[in-house]
Amino acid sequence: MGGGAWLVLMDYDGTLTPIRPTPAEARLGAGMREAVSALSRARGITVGIVSGRSLEAVRRLVGLRGVVYAGNHGLELQGPGLRFVHPGARRSIPLLRRIARQLSRALAGIPGALVESKRLSLSIHWRRVPAAHAAAFHRRVGAVLAPWAARRAVRVTRGKRVVEVRPPVSWDKGAVVDWLAKRHRCRDGRLLYLGDDRTDEDAFRAVNRRSGIAVFVGRPRRGTAAGWWLRGTQEAGELFRRMAEGRWANRRAR
Ligand SMILES: [Mg+2]
Repeated sequence: MGGGAWLVLMDYDGTLTPIRPTPAEARLGAGMREAVSALSRARGITVGIVSGRSLEAVRRLVGLRGVVYAGNHGLELQGPGLRFVHPGARRSIPLLRRIARQLSRALAGIPGALVESKRLSLSIHWRRVPAAHAAAFHRRVGAVLAPWAARRAVRVTRGKRVVEVRPPVSWDKGAVVDWLAKRHRCRDGRLLYLGDDRTDEDAFRAVNRRSGIAVFVGRPRRGTAAGWWLRGTQEAGELFRRMAEGRWANRRAR
C-alpha cells in the first residue's frame, strides 16, 4: 500500500457476521475469516476487532493470530505485545456480578430474556423476547438498574435488542480508537473503522477527528457520524480482500 501503516478496526456482531437470534449463533463465516486473516497478514496493515463481547468470547469466535482484540467495548485489550484491562472497570466486577443475579431473578418469568455476564460488563438480550413480553422486560430491567444508574455505580446503554450495563468509567469504542491509533503511531487518515450500531458512533467520531474513514455496515442509521456505508457484511469482506491485495487506497490521483 505504501505511505505508512494502516490501522483497520472493526466491530464484530453485525459487521463481520449478520445479527443472529442468540449471540452464541453469531459465528464467523469461513469466507469472512479468510478475508480478515488475509488483511491482518498484509504488509503495513494492523487489524483490530472492537466488540461489546468479552475479550475471551471475541478471541474464541475469530481465532486469528496477529490481530488486536478489544473486548467489553475496549475495557480489555489483547494483541501482539499488548495486554490491558481498564483499572476502573476491574473494580466494578463484584457489583456487576451482584446486578447479574438481581437481573436473572427479575427476568425469570420473561421468555427469551438472556442475561450475559461478560465479567467487565453485562448484556441483557431481548432479541428472543416475544412482543407481548417486551414491556414487562423493560419495566423489570429498569427497576433493577435504575437505583444503580442513579448512583452512577454503572452506565446503561442500549443497542440492537440489547441493554448494556457497563462500569462507570468514561471509556468507549471512541477512546479505544484513540488509544490504538496513538499506540500504533497511526498517521492521520490511515485509519479505517467499520461498525453497525450505536456504540460504534463513538468510534466513528474518533475516526473523523483523525481524518480517517468511518464506514457504516448495513443501511445507515439516521444521523450516523460515518461518512461511508457498505450494504452488509458481504461487502465488508470484499473490502478486506481488496485491501489485502492492495487493490484499494492506491488509486489516489496524487
Ligand atoms: Mg455490531
